[in-house]
Amino acid sequence: MSEIRVRFAPSPTGPLHIGGVRTALYNYLFARKHNGKLILRIEDTDQQRFVPGAEEYIIESLTWCGIEFDEGVHKGGDYAPYRQSERREIYKQYADLLVEKGAAYYAFDTPEELDAIRKQYEAEKKVFQYDVFTRKHLKNSLTFTRKQTEEWLKSGKPYVVRFKIPENRELNIHDLIRGEIHVHTNTLDDKVLFKSDGLPTYHLANIVDDYLMHITHVIRGEEWLPSLPLHYLLYEALGWIDSMPQFAHLPLILKPDGKGKLSKRDGDKGGFPVFPCNWKNSDGEVFLGYREWGFLPEAFINMLALLGWNPGTEQEIFTREELIQLFDLHKVNKAGARFDPEKARWFNQQYIKRMPDEALLKLLKPLIEKEHFLYNDTMLLQVISLMKERATFVQDILNEGRFFFEAPKQFDENVIRKKIKPEVLPYINEVKEIISNIHEFKASVIDESLHVYVKQKNVGMGEVMIPIRLALVGTTKGPHLGQIMEIIGKNESLSRIETFASYLKTM
Ligand code: GLU
Repeated sequence: MSEIRVRFAPSPTGPLHIGGVRTALYNYLFARKHNGKLILRIEDTDQQRFVPGAEEYIIESLTWCGIEFDEGVHKGGDYAPYRQSERREIYKQYADLLVEKGAAYYAFDTPEELDAIRKQYEAEKKVFQYDVFTRKHLKNSLTFTRKQTEEWLKSGKPYVVRFKIPENRELNIHDLIRGEIHVHTNTLDDKVLFKSDGLPTYHLANIVDDYLMHITHVIRGEEWLPSLPLHYLLYEALGWIDSMPQFAHLPLILKPDGKGKLSKRDGDKGGFPVFPCNWKNSDGEVFLGYREWGFLPEAFINMLALLGWNPGTEQEIFTREELIQLFDLHKVNKAGARFDPEKARWFNQQYIKRMPDEALLKLLKPLIEKEHFLYNDTMLLQVISLMKERATFVQDILNEGRFFFEAPKQFDENVIRKKIKPEVLPYINEVKEIISNIHEFKASVIDESLHVYVKQKNVGMGEVMIPIRLALVGTTKGPHLGQIMEIIGKNESLSRIETFASYLKTM
């Protein structure tokens, strides 16, 4: 078999949705598994929908995910250029060829004329399409004489080239995920392939480029399935059917409630991102990305890989190598994949839990530095090992463990009112005394001394520990008191206890 070549072919019309990242990911896994090549082609023929910065965003996001390309706009390669706007001159000859072969025709109807017809159909409760039936009554080179057509073309008035869908044919096209797809050609419309402004539409450029770039498999979103019959017929008309790629149309990613496609708005509503990285639109509005939310790229990829595919086992956490080895287009589901934000968070939590402390240290440091907290690596590593089990994001280690870096600014009033009796004040002072006398300031020694004290006094554990915890943390949360004190040190522990004792006196 010849070399596997797949492409990810986004249009730079905005930020890449996570569905787009998943398409790129499946192409990547498929290419790596089969030692093939992955190509990034930018399909920017629709100038009206072009959004500045979108191409850069796409590349930055895919790079963050670790989806590496072998050829593409940012890489170059044997089939460059990989940006369709730089390949303009290539497409016209194929549009001409199709017209010459009788597989396409010139259409002269103006948008206003077509609009009027559409409205007329609507009034009769019908839907208009330019197709095998209607084309026989419209303004095009099939109904015009040769002379009329030539005159129109020479006049410089706008026209388009439309594909001439063959009449009365039953098409059976194979999709690697969906199996056989049957379509009757009379239901299809004569799509525009080329416009007189010299630009092809998506359909023509896409097929020509896939052919010229020797693409063997087209793996793309389900929204392109309706275009498949046209693409098939284009390969056929161009005489390329023997080198037509195999097709695989991926299922949609659905909203958390399973009703409809996951959209940008669902993210806003649900408080979770639908974009890989932050995206700022032209109004300056910022949409949250997984990267900025605190996701690790590997966790993001693992989560996405399972949205629509699984190897048929219970395993959920996969290394990148495992994903590559196990990925199989035949195991991609036909049905839409429901997006579950809770599950997404779970993946990140699993990755944080499994990540070596040293690696987390690197990610945590910039967050600590941003807050201008004093730290050293040994102390941070201790904090990480205590806090990572409870963290979903790296920043949780800081947010939940803020008391390691600064004294609490306030104390939980509710707890004070409910749990602290006035007679505990002397205990707090005695504990302070005990702590100041500990020489080897280690968690185990501190805990032990506190236990001995509680036993001697014959009081409830909480009566002593709750006030001390409030003094150190501000709330009743956090790891063992001994561990906290060891990390923040004796002086800081004593000063916090003192501050709290004074605070209690003022109440
Ligand atoms: N440019 C199309 C898109 O934006 C590509 C579809 C395809 O992969 O054929 O998704």
